[in-house]
Amino acid sequence: MKIFCIGRNYVDHAKELNNPVPTEPIIFMKPPTALVVGNKPFYFPDFTKDLHYEGEIVLRICKNGRQVEPEFASRYYDAIGFGIDFTARDLQQHLKQNGHPWEIAKAFDRSAPLGSFVLLENLRNPADIHFQLKKNGEVVQDGHTRDLIFPFDALICHISRYFTLQKGDYIFTGTPAGVGPVQIGDVLEGFVEDQLLLKCAIK
Ligand code: ZN
Repeated sequence: MKIFCIGRNYVDHAKELNNPVPTEPIIFMKPPTALVVGNKPFYFPDFTKDLHYEGEIVLRICKNGRQVEPEFASRYYDAIGFGIDFTARDLQQHLKQNGHPWEIAKAFDRSAPLGSFVLLENLRNPADIHFQLKKNGEVVQDGHTRDLIFPFDALICHISRYFTLQKGDYIFTGTPAGVGPVQIGDVLEGFVEDQLLLKCAIK
């Protein structure tokens, strides 16, 4: 199982971190040891002082494929979930400044809490999914997938040029504006169309 993540896939988020808007999807990966499932708590790691949440819509891959053509891309995912791409922003800034890979800032153990999934066919409007992240009950991120720079199908095509997609892989599709820090004691909740899919307590 592989976890693909997309960086800067919403214009408003690229701008809030003073990053340029990409012309191609920015892909990075997390190992299976990054996953936290079953709404288990997240334990604040000791190597960062600036841990950020990034709430994201996650695609579940349902079919193996490589070099997928655009007209077939939508057959490769069947459900969406809500995930958090936890990021040690202080480590990431340092690594980026030095031109180094940012794995330790993004792909560390338990850096990817992932909630339950909704079948695409059960969504009101799969072409524009509304999602929200609440921190301690307050909305901190509010996104619509119509604002994706690279929509789901484009991601399937692009990723599968380089990596074979396999059933059971996940794609974290990027975060909208509103990322911010968490502290021990915070509770994050991920909603898709008003349905609570993920709960994550920071311990
Ligand atoms: Zn992210």
